[in-house]
Amino acid sequence: MLPERLARAITLGGPMPVARFMAAANAHYYGTRDPLGAAGDFITAPEISQMFGELVGLWLADLWDRAGRPLVHYVELGPGRGTLAADALRSMAKAGLEPQVHFVETSAALRSAQERAVPAAIWHEDVTTLPDDAPLLIVANEFFDALPVYQLVRRGAAWHERLVACQDTMFLPIAGKSVPDEVVPDALRDAAPGSIIESSPASVAVVRALAKRLAAQGGAALIVDYGYEGPALGDTLQAVKGHGFANPFDAPGEQDLTAHVDFATLGGMAEMSGAKVFGPVAQGDFLGLLGIAERARSLARVHPDRGEELAEAHRRLTHPTEMGSLFQAMALVGKDWPDPAAMG
Ligand code: SAH
Repeated sequence: MLPERLARAITLGGPMPVARFMAAANAHYYGTRDPLGAAGDFITAPEISQMFGELVGLWLADLWDRAGRPLVHYVELGPGRGTLAADALRSMAKAGLEPQVHFVETSAALRSAQERAVPAAIWHEDVTTLPDDAPLLIVANEFFDALPVYQLVRRGAAWHERLVACQDTMFLPIAGKSVPDEVVPDALRDAAPGSIIESSPASVAVVRALAKRLAAQGGAALIVDYGYEGPALGDTLQAVKGHGFANPFDAPGEQDLTAHVDFATLGGMAEMSGAKVFGPVAQGDFLGLLGIAERARSLARVHPDRGEELAEAHRRLTHPTEMGSLFQAMALVGKDWPDPAAMG
Protein backbone atom coordinates (compact mmCIF):
# COMPACT_ATOMS: atom_id res chain seq x y z
CA MET A 1 0.00 0.00 0.00
CA LEU A 2 1.31 3.45 -0.93
CA PRO A 3 0.48 5.27 2.37
CA GLU A 4 2.44 2.66 4.32
CA ARG A 5 5.34 2.86 1.87
CA LEU A 6 5.43 6.66 2.10
CA ALA A 7 5.17 6.56 5.91
CA ARG A 8 8.10 4.13 6.05
CA ALA A 9 10.18 6.28 3.68
CA ILE A 10 9.54 9.32 5.89
CA THR A 11 10.36 7.41 9.09
CA LEU A 12 13.64 6.24 7.58
CA GLY A 13 14.68 9.26 5.54
CA GLY A 14 12.85 12.16 7.20
CA PRO A 15 10.12 14.41 5.78
CA MET A 16 10.08 14.52 1.98
CA PRO A 17 9.63 17.39 -0.50
CA VAL A 18 6.03 18.07 -1.55
CA ALA A 19 7.13 17.21 -5.12
CA ARG A 20 8.21 13.72 -4.15
CA PHE A 21 4.97 13.09 -2.28
CA MET A 22 2.95 14.38 -5.25
CA ALA A 23 4.92 12.31 -7.78
CA ALA A 24 4.48 9.09 -5.79
CA ALA A 25 0.78 9.78 -5.13
CA ASN A 26 -0.04 10.51 -8.79
CA ALA A 27 2.01 7.61 -10.16
CA HIS A 28 -0.06 5.27 -7.99
CA TYR A 29 -3.32 7.09 -8.65
CA TYR A 30 -3.08 7.12 -12.46
CA GLY A 31 -1.37 3.75 -12.64
CA THR A 32 -4.23 1.94 -10.94
CA ARG A 33 -7.43 3.39 -12.42
CA ASP A 34 -9.23 5.40 -15.09
CA PRO A 35 -10.19 8.47 -13.04
CA LEU A 36 -12.20 10.25 -15.74
CA GLY A 37 -15.94 10.63 -16.17
CA ALA A 38 -19.10 10.63 -14.09
CA ALA A 39 -18.19 7.45 -12.20
CA GLY A 40 -14.63 8.65 -11.59
CA ASP A 41 -13.15 11.64 -9.82
CA PHE A 42 -13.13 14.41 -12.41
CA ILE A 43 -14.09 15.28 -15.98
CA THR A 44 -11.99 17.01 -18.63
CA ALA A 45 -12.85 19.12 -21.68
CA PRO A 46 -12.59 16.29 -24.24
CA GLU A 47 -14.82 14.11 -22.04
CA ILE A 48 -17.44 16.88 -21.88
CA SER A 49 -17.81 17.06 -25.65
CA GLN A 50 -16.38 15.83 -28.95
CA MET A 51 -16.29 19.51 -29.99
CA PHE A 52 -13.15 20.14 -27.95
CA GLY A 53 -10.99 17.55 -29.73
CA GLU A 54 -12.47 18.36 -33.11
CA LEU A 55 -11.58 22.03 -32.81
CA VAL A 56 -8.07 21.20 -31.57
CA GLY A 57 -7.72 18.97 -34.64
CA LEU A 58 -8.85 21.79 -36.93
CA TRP A 59 -6.41 24.19 -35.27
CA LEU A 60 -3.56 21.75 -35.95
CA ALA A 61 -4.72 20.99 -39.49
CA ASP A 62 -4.90 24.69 -40.35
CA LEU A 63 -1.34 25.25 -39.12
CA TRP A 64 -0.10 22.18 -40.97
CA ASP A 65 -1.82 23.32 -44.17
CA ARG A 66 -0.19 26.74 -43.98
CA ALA A 67 3.18 25.07 -43.25
CA GLY A 68 2.94 23.39 -46.67
CA ARG A 69 1.35 20.07 -45.64
CA PRO A 70 4.55 18.23 -44.64
CA LEU A 71 4.70 14.68 -43.29
CA VAL A 72 4.16 15.05 -39.50
CA HIS A 73 3.62 13.05 -36.31
CA TYR A 74 0.73 13.65 -33.89
CA VAL A 75 1.93 13.52 -30.30
CA GLU A 76 -0.22 13.67 -27.18
CA LEU A 77 1.04 13.91 -23.62
CA GLY A 78 -1.17 12.25 -20.99
CA PRO A 79 -4.00 11.35 -23.42
CA GLY A 80 -6.39 10.07 -20.72
CA ARG A 81 -8.93 7.83 -22.45
CA GLY A 82 -7.73 8.82 -25.91
CA THR A 83 -10.93 10.77 -26.53
CA LEU A 84 -9.26 14.05 -27.52
CA ALA A 85 -6.93 12.22 -29.92
CA ALA A 86 -9.76 10.25 -31.55
CA ASP A 87 -11.85 13.41 -32.06
CA ALA A 88 -8.87 15.45 -33.30
CA LEU A 89 -7.71 12.70 -35.68
CA ARG A 90 -11.22 12.51 -37.17
CA SER A 91 -11.35 16.23 -37.93
CA MET A 92 -7.72 16.26 -39.14
CA ALA A 93 -8.45 13.39 -41.53
CA LYS A 94 -11.31 15.41 -43.05
CA ALA A 95 -8.73 18.12 -43.75
CA GLY A 96 -6.40 15.61 -45.40
CA LEU A 97 -4.04 15.20 -42.41
CA GLU A 98 -3.42 11.61 -41.31
CA PRO A 99 -0.33 11.55 -39.11
CA GLN A 100 1.27 8.68 -37.22
CA VAL A 101 0.14 8.84 -33.57
CA HIS A 102 2.45 8.86 -30.53
CA PHE A 103 1.20 8.84 -26.94
CA VAL A 104 3.34 9.71 -23.94
CA GLU A 105 1.67 7.87 -21.08
CA THR A 106 2.97 6.19 -17.93
CA SER A 107 -0.30 4.67 -16.69
CA ALA A 108 -0.93 1.05 -17.72
CA ALA A 109 -4.64 1.43 -16.91
CA LEU A 110 -5.03 4.42 -19.20
CA ARG A 111 -2.86 2.92 -21.96
CA SER A 112 -5.43 0.19 -22.45
CA ALA A 113 -8.26 2.74 -22.69
CA GLN A 114 -6.15 4.68 -25.22
CA GLU A 115 -5.53 1.54 -27.24
CA ARG A 116 -9.28 1.05 -27.62
CA ALA A 117 -9.72 4.64 -28.84
CA VAL A 118 -6.65 4.78 -31.12
CA PRO A 119 -5.42 1.23 -31.85
CA ALA A 120 -2.60 2.34 -34.16
CA ALA A 121 -0.89 4.55 -31.58
CA ILE A 122 2.73 4.08 -30.49
CA TRP A 123 3.39 4.54 -26.77
CA HIS A 124 6.27 6.28 -25.01
CA GLU A 125 7.26 6.52 -21.34
CA ASP A 126 8.54 10.08 -21.82
CA VAL A 127 9.33 12.59 -24.55
CA THR A 128 12.93 11.46 -25.15
CA THR A 129 11.90 8.61 -27.47
CA LEU A 130 9.58 10.64 -29.72
CA PRO A 131 10.54 10.45 -33.42
CA ASP A 132 13.06 12.99 -34.68
CA ASP A 133 12.53 12.58 -38.42
CA ALA A 134 9.61 14.98 -39.02
CA PRO A 135 7.72 17.94 -37.48
CA LEU A 136 5.62 17.18 -34.39
CA LEU A 137 2.04 18.32 -33.74
CA ILE A 138 1.84 18.06 -29.95
CA VAL A 139 -1.21 18.32 -27.66
CA ALA A 140 -1.23 18.35 -23.86
CA ASN A 141 -4.58 18.88 -22.14
CA GLU A 142 -4.51 18.76 -18.33
CA PHE A 143 -1.11 17.06 -18.45
CA PHE A 144 1.22 19.62 -16.87
CA ASP A 145 -1.08 20.15 -13.87
CA ALA A 146 -0.43 16.53 -12.87
CA LEU A 147 3.37 16.95 -12.79
CA PRO A 148 4.95 17.45 -9.35
CA VAL A 149 5.61 20.89 -7.84
CA TYR A 150 8.08 21.92 -5.17
CA GLN A 151 6.83 24.44 -2.62
CA LEU A 152 8.63 27.03 -0.52
CA VAL A 153 6.93 28.54 2.53
CA ARG A 154 7.82 31.84 4.20
CA ARG A 155 8.42 31.52 7.93
CA GLY A 156 9.80 34.39 10.00
CA ALA A 157 12.38 36.15 7.86
CA ALA A 158 13.32 33.21 5.66
CA TRP A 159 11.97 30.91 2.98
CA HIS A 160 11.87 27.21 3.81
CA GLU A 161 11.34 24.17 1.67
CA ARG A 162 7.86 22.76 2.35
CA LEU A 163 8.06 19.10 3.26
CA VAL A 164 5.59 16.34 4.02
CA ALA A 165 5.92 14.74 7.45
CA CYS A 166 4.06 11.77 8.84
CA GLN A 167 2.50 11.45 12.27
CA ASP A 168 1.23 7.94 12.94
CA THR A 169 -0.78 7.45 9.76
CA MET A 170 -1.42 11.11 9.00
CA PHE A 171 0.57 13.12 6.45
CA LEU A 172 0.99 16.84 7.01
CA PRO A 173 2.99 19.72 5.52
CA ILE A 174 5.80 21.24 7.58
CA ALA A 175 8.53 23.82 6.99
CA GLY A 176 11.90 22.19 6.41
CA LYS A 177 15.37 23.76 6.21
CA SER A 178 15.63 27.37 5.13
CA VAL A 179 16.81 28.09 1.60
CA PRO A 180 18.93 31.02 0.36
CA ASP A 181 16.81 34.08 -0.53
CA GLU A 182 18.38 34.04 -4.00
CA VAL A 183 16.23 31.09 -5.09
CA VAL A 184 13.12 33.26 -4.69
CA PRO A 185 12.33 35.90 -7.38
CA ASP A 186 13.22 39.43 -6.18
CA ALA A 187 9.68 40.77 -6.10
CA LEU A 188 8.44 37.95 -3.89
CA ARG A 189 11.26 37.75 -1.36
CA ASP A 190 9.62 39.81 1.38
CA ALA A 191 6.21 38.13 1.26
CA ALA A 192 4.12 37.79 4.41
CA PRO A 193 4.74 34.82 6.72
CA GLY A 194 2.85 31.75 5.57
CA SER A 195 3.14 32.69 1.88
CA ILE A 196 3.89 29.86 -0.51
CA ILE A 197 5.54 29.77 -3.91
CA GLU A 198 5.73 26.83 -6.24
CA SER A 199 8.00 25.61 -8.99
CA SER A 200 7.77 22.61 -11.26
CA PRO A 201 11.16 21.48 -12.55
CA ALA A 202 9.48 18.45 -14.12
CA SER A 203 7.20 20.70 -16.22
CA VAL A 204 10.10 22.94 -17.18
CA ALA A 205 12.13 19.94 -18.33
CA VAL A 206 9.31 18.66 -20.56
CA VAL A 207 8.62 22.09 -22.08
CA ARG A 208 12.30 22.65 -22.82
CA ALA A 209 12.55 19.25 -24.49
CA LEU A 210 9.45 19.96 -26.60
CA ALA A 211 10.62 23.45 -27.57
CA LYS A 212 14.02 22.09 -28.65
CA ARG A 213 12.28 19.48 -30.81
CA LEU A 214 10.06 22.13 -32.40
CA ALA A 215 13.07 24.34 -33.07
CA ALA A 216 15.00 21.46 -34.67
CA GLN A 217 12.19 19.50 -36.37
CA GLY A 218 9.39 22.05 -36.83
CA GLY A 219 5.80 21.68 -35.73
CA ALA A 220 3.73 23.07 -32.87
CA ALA A 221 2.50 22.27 -29.38
CA LEU A 222 -0.82 23.22 -27.81
CA ILE A 223 -0.80 23.26 -24.01
CA VAL A 224 -4.18 23.65 -22.27
CA ASP A 225 -4.42 23.75 -18.51
CA TYR A 226 -5.57 25.85 -15.62
CA GLY A 227 -2.87 28.21 -14.66
CA TYR A 228 -1.46 31.64 -13.96
CA GLU A 229 1.31 33.86 -15.22
CA GLY A 230 3.93 33.53 -12.54
CA PRO A 231 6.13 33.41 -10.66
CA ALA A 232 3.52 34.34 -8.08
CA LEU A 233 2.63 33.61 -4.50
CA GLY A 234 0.03 30.94 -3.85
CA ASP A 235 -0.57 27.38 -2.78
CA THR A 236 -2.34 25.75 -5.72
CA LEU A 237 -1.78 22.14 -4.73
CA GLN A 238 -5.21 20.54 -4.66
CA ALA A 239 -6.81 17.14 -4.46
CA VAL A 240 -9.98 16.01 -6.18
CA LYS A 241 -11.95 12.92 -5.31
CA GLY A 242 -15.45 12.01 -6.49
CA HIS A 243 -15.87 15.43 -8.22
CA GLY A 244 -15.18 17.33 -4.96
CA PHE A 245 -12.14 18.89 -3.30
CA ALA A 246 -10.20 16.98 -0.64
CA ASN A 247 -7.17 17.54 1.59
CA PRO A 248 -4.12 17.01 -0.68
CA PHE A 249 -2.18 15.34 2.14
CA ASP A 250 -4.88 12.73 2.82
CA ALA A 251 -5.01 9.31 1.19
CA PRO A 252 -1.99 9.57 -1.16
CA GLY A 253 -2.60 7.62 -4.36
CA GLU A 254 -6.38 7.59 -3.93
CA GLN A 255 -7.14 11.12 -5.14
CA ASP A 256 -5.98 13.28 -8.02
CA LEU A 257 -3.28 15.80 -7.07
CA THR A 258 -2.81 18.85 -9.29
CA ALA A 259 -1.17 22.25 -9.18
CA HIS A 260 -1.84 25.25 -11.39
CA VAL A 261 0.50 25.68 -14.33
CA ASP A 262 2.83 28.68 -14.43
CA PHE A 263 2.43 29.63 -18.09
CA ALA A 264 4.80 32.60 -17.96
CA THR A 265 7.68 30.50 -16.68
CA LEU A 266 7.01 27.66 -19.14
CA GLY A 267 6.62 30.11 -22.04
CA GLY A 268 9.88 31.85 -21.12
CA MET A 269 11.71 28.52 -21.02
CA ALA A 270 10.25 27.51 -24.38
CA GLU A 271 11.42 30.77 -25.93
CA MET A 272 14.91 30.27 -24.53
CA SER A 273 14.93 26.82 -26.09
CA GLY A 274 14.17 28.23 -29.53
CA ALA A 275 10.38 28.08 -29.99
CA LYS A 276 7.96 30.90 -30.75
CA VAL A 277 5.38 31.28 -27.98
CA PHE A 278 1.75 32.45 -28.37
CA GLY A 279 -0.73 33.09 -25.56
CA PRO A 280 -1.81 31.95 -23.15
CA VAL A 281 -5.37 32.89 -24.03
CA ALA A 282 -8.53 31.91 -22.19
CA GLN A 283 -9.98 28.57 -23.32
CA GLY A 284 -13.35 30.26 -23.93
CA ASP A 285 -11.79 32.76 -26.35
CA PHE A 286 -9.69 30.07 -28.06
CA LEU A 287 -12.67 27.81 -28.71
CA GLY A 288 -14.85 30.81 -29.62
CA LEU A 289 -12.41 31.94 -32.32
CA LEU A 290 -12.22 28.38 -33.65
CA GLY A 291 -16.01 28.41 -34.13
CA ILE A 292 -17.40 26.33 -31.29
CA ALA A 293 -20.77 28.11 -31.51
CA GLU A 294 -21.14 27.20 -35.19
CA ARG A 295 -19.96 23.64 -34.50
CA ALA A 296 -22.55 23.23 -31.73
CA ARG A 297 -25.31 24.51 -34.03
CA SER A 298 -24.35 22.28 -36.95
CA LEU A 299 -24.13 19.19 -34.70
CA ALA A 300 -27.54 20.08 -33.26
CA ARG A 301 -29.02 20.29 -36.75
CA VAL A 302 -27.81 16.75 -37.50
CA HIS A 303 -28.82 15.43 -34.04
CA PRO A 304 -31.94 17.42 -33.01
CA ASP A 305 -32.35 15.23 -29.90
CA ARG A 306 -28.95 16.38 -28.62
CA GLY A 307 -29.59 20.13 -28.90
CA GLU A 308 -29.76 20.76 -25.17
CA GLU A 309 -26.75 18.60 -24.40
CA LEU A 310 -24.67 20.43 -27.02
CA ALA A 311 -25.70 23.86 -25.74
CA GLU A 312 -24.79 22.78 -22.21
CA ALA A 313 -21.38 21.43 -23.34
CA HIS A 314 -20.70 24.65 -25.24
CA ARG A 315 -21.47 26.62 -22.07
CA ARG A 316 -19.30 24.44 -19.82
CA LEU A 317 -16.31 24.64 -22.14
CA THR A 318 -16.44 28.40 -22.74
CA HIS A 319 -18.34 30.26 -20.01
CA PRO A 320 -16.15 32.35 -17.65
CA THR A 321 -17.74 30.79 -14.57
CA GLU A 322 -17.06 27.28 -15.92
CA MET A 323 -13.88 26.32 -17.82
CA GLY A 324 -13.78 29.40 -20.07
CA SER A 325 -11.41 31.64 -18.11
CA LEU A 326 -9.61 29.43 -15.62
CA PHE A 327 -8.32 27.21 -18.40
CA GLN A 328 -5.76 28.74 -20.71
CA ALA A 329 -4.29 27.69 -24.05
CA MET A 330 -0.67 28.38 -24.98
CA ALA A 331 1.07 27.50 -28.24
CA LEU A 332 4.73 26.74 -28.92
CA VAL A 333 5.69 26.83 -32.58
CA GLY A 334 8.87 26.02 -34.50
CA LYS A 335 10.66 29.12 -35.84
CA ASP A 336 10.04 28.33 -39.51
CA TRP A 337 6.37 27.48 -38.97
CA PRO A 338 3.51 29.95 -39.49
CA ASP A 339 1.76 31.67 -36.58
CA PRO A 340 -1.14 29.69 -35.14
CA ALA A 341 -4.80 30.72 -35.31
CA ALA A 342 -6.97 31.82 -32.39
CA MET A 343 -4.16 32.95 -30.11
CA GLY A 344 -5.58 36.44 -29.64
N1 SAH B 1 -5.58 14.63 -21.41
C1 SAH B 1 -6.62 13.79 -20.86
C2 SAH B 1 -6.29 13.25 -19.45
C3 SAH B 1 -5.89 14.23 -18.39
S1 SAH B 1 -5.48 13.42 -16.87
C4 SAH B 1 -7.93 14.53 -20.87
O1 SAH B 1 -7.93 15.73 -21.10
O2 SAH B 1 -8.97 13.91 -20.64
C5 SAH B 1 -3.71 13.38 -16.89
C6 SAH B 1 -3.09 12.43 -17.87
O3 SAH B 1 -1.66 12.51 -17.76
C7 SAH B 1 -3.41 10.95 -17.63
O4 SAH B 1 -3.46 10.30 -18.88
C8 SAH B 1 -2.21 10.49 -16.81
O5 SAH B 1 -2.04 9.10 -16.79
C9 SAH B 1 -1.10 11.22 -17.50
N2 SAH B 1 0.12 11.43 -16.71
C10 SAH B 1 0.22 11.91 -15.46
N3 SAH B 1 1.51 12.03 -15.08
C11 SAH B 1 2.25 11.59 -16.13
C12 SAH B 1 3.66 11.49 -16.39
N4 SAH B 1 4.55 11.82 -15.46
N5 SAH B 1 4.06 11.01 -17.58
C13 SAH B 1 3.15 10.68 -18.54
N6 SAH B 1 1.82 10.77 -18.36
C14 SAH B 1 1.36 11.23 -17.18
